[in-house]
Amino acid sequence: MRLSELNTGESGVIVKVHGHGGFRKRIVEMGFIRGTKVEVLLNAPLHDPVKYKLLDYEVSLRRAEAELVEVVSVEEAKEWRDSQVDQTPLPANEKDLLHHVALEKRKTLNVCFVGNPNCGKTSIFNVAGHADERVGNYSGVTVDAKKGELDFEGYHFNIIDLPGTYSLSAYTPEELYVRKYIIEQTPDVIINVVDASNLERNLYLTTQLIDMDVPMIMALNMYDELRESGNHLDTQQLATLLGVPVIPTVAKTGEGINELLHTAVHVYEGPCNIENDEDRTMRCKNCQLLSHCPQATAKSFKHIHVNHGSILEAAIEKIEEPIRKNPEPHHNYSGRFMAIKLLENDRQIRDVIGNLPNAEEIFAMVSDQQKMIQRELDDNSENAITDAKYGFVQGALKECFEKVGKRMPSRILTKKIDAVVTNKWSGYIIFLAVLYLMFWCTFSLGQYPMDWIDLGVEELSSLVSRLMPDGMLKDLLVDGILAGVGGVIVFLPNILILYAFISWMEDSGYMARVAFIMDRIMHKMGLHGKSFIPMIMGFGCGIPAIMATRTIEDRKSRLITMLIVPLMSCSARLPVYIIIIGAFFQQYQATMLFSLYLLGIVMSIVMAHLFSRFVVKGESSPFVMELPPYRLPSGKSVFRHTWEKGKQYLKKMGTTILAASVIIWVLSYFPRVQEVQEVQGVQEVQGVQEVQGMEQSYLGQIGKAIEPVIRPCGMAWKEGVSIIAGVGAKEIVASTMSELGGFDTMTPLAALAFLIFVLLYMPCIPACVTISKESGHWKWAVFTALYTTTLAWICSVLVYQIGSLI
Ligand code: GDP
Ligand code: MG
Repeated sequence: MRLSELNTGESGVIVKVHGHGGFRKRIVEMGFIRGTKVEVLLNAPLHDPVKYKLLDYEVSLRRAEAELVEVVSVEEAKEWRDSQVDQTPLPANEKDLLHHVALEKRKTLNVCFVGNPNCGKTSIFNVAGHADERVGNYSGVTVDAKKGELDFEGYHFNIIDLPGTYSLSAYTPEELYVRKYIIEQTPDVIINVVDASNLERNLYLTTQLIDMDVPMIMALNMYDELRESGNHLDTQQLATLLGVPVIPTVAKTGEGINELLHTAVHVYEGPCNIENDEDRTMRCKNCQLLSHCPQATAKSFKHIHVNHGSILEAAIEKIEEPIRKNPEPHHNYSGRFMAIKLLENDRQIRDVIGNLPNAEEIFAMVSDQQKMIQRELDDNSENAITDAKYGFVQGALKECFEKVGKRMPSRILTKKIDAVVTNKWSGYIIFLAVLYLMFWCTFSLGQYPMDWIDLGVEELSSLVSRLMPDGMLKDLLVDGILAGVGGVIVFLPNILILYAFISWMEDSGYMARVAFIMDRIMHKMGLHGKSFIPMIMGFGCGIPAIMATRTIEDRKSRLITMLIVPLMSCSARLPVYIIIIGAFFQQYQATMLFSLYLLGIVMSIVMAHLFSRFVVKGESSPFVMELPPYRLPSGKSVFRHTWEKGKQYLKKMGTTILAASVIIWVLSYFPRVQEVQEVQGVQEVQGVQEVQGMEQSYLGQIGKAIEPVIRPCGMAWKEGVSIIAGVGAKEIVASTMSELGGFDTMTPLAALAFLIFVLLYMPCIPACVTISKESGHWKWAVFTALYTTTLAWICSVLVYQIGSLI
């Protein structure tokens, strides 16, 4: 807990002091050192400062300062003791226990990854934490912070994978998110992940982190590519110039990751050559084995100031002066960072400053200095700072980077491939070919394992039929659960194949090309090439796809993309397609599937155009698409993601689909045929009885009630029921169909109309919830549900009615 949370009379032991530079130094000088006991003398709500007793004297801290001191309270210590499983004897008396727990807690490190999109943050996160997060070779796959844990050299790491960002200004949601995270969560160590094959742009972000004056180290990732290129980088020199330890890593193979974590511990604990620390000597034994242990060079890692040139530096210093008149910490921002951000007209920092008593003085100074910069440099201060930062990076690289190879080999290859893949003509053809191949594989390759599973389910079903006595339980098992869950579980192989393709497209960098060639078309609809990535992701599942729209800076484009993603046929609809296409369109399986998906894309394009003209207001802004170099996706990573999806699918089978199957069965089983028959006094043969029973069941009644609405689409009550049930999850459409016993009465035309309806109608409830969350208003979820269902109905009716005429 934080020191500020302790009440009057309570006491705790200091675990660590967060915050940076000057503030940290001052507070440590006051005696707030780890392991020290603090007692609260007076902590009244609304009363600032708070009075503490520390080392037998009284000190007062402002509440904001106390928030940055982490302590362990007596209560926490006791809780912790009780939670320990292994019975190693713990100190009995309170004081020693507190110390013990404080020491243990101190061994927990909060570490976060910050870096440009596509530099390998998530890959490192996965290797380090043995996690299974999504990696992808295009910007903006990670839209949220991901948490992981690991134990290393006696330390417990909480690692956070933050979204990729090029800068720390307050323009895009990612930038704000990352900045807010660093400031509010005060991570113990920030790992700045840098793409070694693209240093100049990556180091720009590093200069901003340096401005923030936060404890950080650098993971120089993709070091393999740098090595291959033949270019030479003096990493020690770079480290000295930036004042940040630099550790070369290759996330793909895990090279350098241990050194990276090791260095994080060092930065957290301070240089190792402090005496009298048993802990540290122990670790230093380890260090001797590691080439990049900063032990030897720890002294050289002094925080540096990124030099912006004399004019800007003078302005920064002038602005820092009035800021410094206020007691630290100013919301955890370093004074220098705030001064620089003020020159850049950063809205958020202006708000922070606005709360200070001498805000006016500061703002006046800023505007004076901005005028001075304009005069001297003939440029506005925002541009001047960006230029200066790039200048600093270029200067640093000149000193430690030697270009030998003309271009990275991977870039040359990338250029060659791109000439074809992003060509005006061949680009589209290749894209369509890839899509076609994807669906062809989904079908043909999927067929074999599908048949095996199908056989297994059938065997199981007949086994149960034979072994169990007749009755309700048997009916439930065979007609309900086995028919329902078994009916969709057979599609697991197809879904895995589909996901393997998507994963491969993302990892290799091809997806970014698709976005690129679609950019022109997308612009015409008021969208952006980037919108195409969520759309393709929508082939897998709409939920992550809707979340992936966060990378679209422009609000209008983002909202429209969210609204049309549900038209992209998700993998949960695949089972229905396969059943129906398999039954009615045997000869053109892949073509049919391909056309359905294409119809989804075309519809989404049409709708986007309409929305951008009539529904969502605002201007859309242009944006540069970045094309990362191609990378051969590691088989392991593709396999892992595919399997991850497989697990999710199986889980859904065991929960949602199972429950739905049982509900559908109950609704189709009651009221019992017998009862109905007795009332009517009719005697009929077995087969007819069954159908009649189903029709008169609750489910049948529901279906019959909606039949008039769907009859123009060529659908009968069974289809109606499946469609309603599918609102919970789209797989249920297929499971309900197989429970209700197929669609023998359907004509091929009706089947086609049904397919189109299933393709286009409202997204499942979880997807609707996601839309409402991501768009910030539930009305957009309702809108999506309504427009998609209306669209589905209209298209389905058109196909059926026009088809009937021919
Ligand atoms: P993020 O956007 O920063 O999270 O980047 P990802 O972890 O998603 O990785 C982007 C791409 O770079 C993926 O295709 C990874 O397989 C690839 N990658 C990551 N680290 C390395 C590395 O050290 N060397 C090489 N050659 N490729 C890497
Ligand atoms: Mg990522």
